[in-house]
Amino acid sequence: MKAMTRIWFSFLALTFTAPLLAQDGADGQFDAGAVEALKGLQLLDQRLNAIGYRLVDANAPYCDQKAPRTGFFLNDIAQYADQETARYALGFDDMIGITAVAADSPADSAKLMPGDTIQAINNMSIDEISMDDPQLASEPPVYRRIAAINRMMEQALAKRGAQLTVSRRGVSRTVLIEPVITCPGKFQIRVSADRSATADGEMVSITSRLAEYFLDDDEFAAVAAHELAHNLLKHNDRLNAQKVNRGFFGQFGKSASRIKTAEIEADRLSVWLMANAGYDPDAAIRFWTRYGKEHGKGIFSASTHYRWKKRVKLFEEEIAIMATIERVDGKLPPPLLTSQD
Ligand SMILES: [Zn+2]
Repeated sequence: MKAMTRIWFSFLALTFTAPLLAQDGADGQFDAGAVEALKGLQLLDQRLNAIGYRLVDANAPYCDQKAPRTGFFLNDIAQYADQETARYALGFDDMIGITAVAADSPADSAKLMPGDTIQAINNMSIDEISMDDPQLASEPPVYRRIAAINRMMEQALAKRGAQLTVSRRGVSRTVLIEPVITCPGKFQIRVSADRSATADGEMVSITSRLAEYFLDDDEFAAVAAHELAHNLLKHNDRLNAQKVNRGFFGQFGKSASRIKTAEIEADRLSVWLMANAGYDPDAAIRFWTRYGKEHGKGIFSASTHYRWKKRVKLFEEEIAIMATIERVDGKLPPPLLTSQD
């Protein structure tokens, strides 16, 4: 099981195009470029967290498995190379805090905000949370604490709610968070100079470089929905059960055709997930056209993926089908989810 990990390297080499907050009070103590880069990364966390929340919440009626969700995303300062700068940039009072809150989520209703520091969960101090759980052993040491905290949050939410003690600029308060039930799925920005997105069965990861390339949240949602679709359709498990080679030799023969089938399904489902969450499904066409023209046969277009023109045609077909479907409670039941056995 993968925790919400932040793979951290050379973030200074990245260029952030997101608008940055005005910075003051640093007194030259912190490198302004590093602070800006961290704030840019936090904004990407915020956007992906909000998009992911809308996708899993809006499509909940069509997911057979469900998960409790609060709508906030945690970070551990220990994951950052320069911890003092990270703590300053993220506005944390201590080591564990919130970097993203989704609009209209339970966390938003509880008035939690990015920068809030988590001090205790159900009266257990963050410092007392055990990291000896054997399930955490596979995590790199620097991610073990955040993995332990996220597990503890999930367990508390599965039972009822979680009482959180949070602080903001030194002032503590206690809030009770009651989750909503949504489709399963986690979302994270992975710091990388590559443009890529992955789905591991549980987590959707989008690199910072790709996230900066999206022109708007609809394009961002197109890629998040494609990766989420892989997870909801359990493609990882299915391809593993079929012993599909996803390495170099997966580019040929039966493995390639099975991967391609999974890619087509993810593309087809993605536009339904987007529409139900209030995103413009045509953004998938806009994004892949722009990406395809600029990248040609790039990372998303190996022999296991359709070339971009074919993908665009597939989106057009699917959106045409959606136009003929009667909405149920304002939503379009996705055939790929509702006809699953
Ligand atoms: Zn894919």
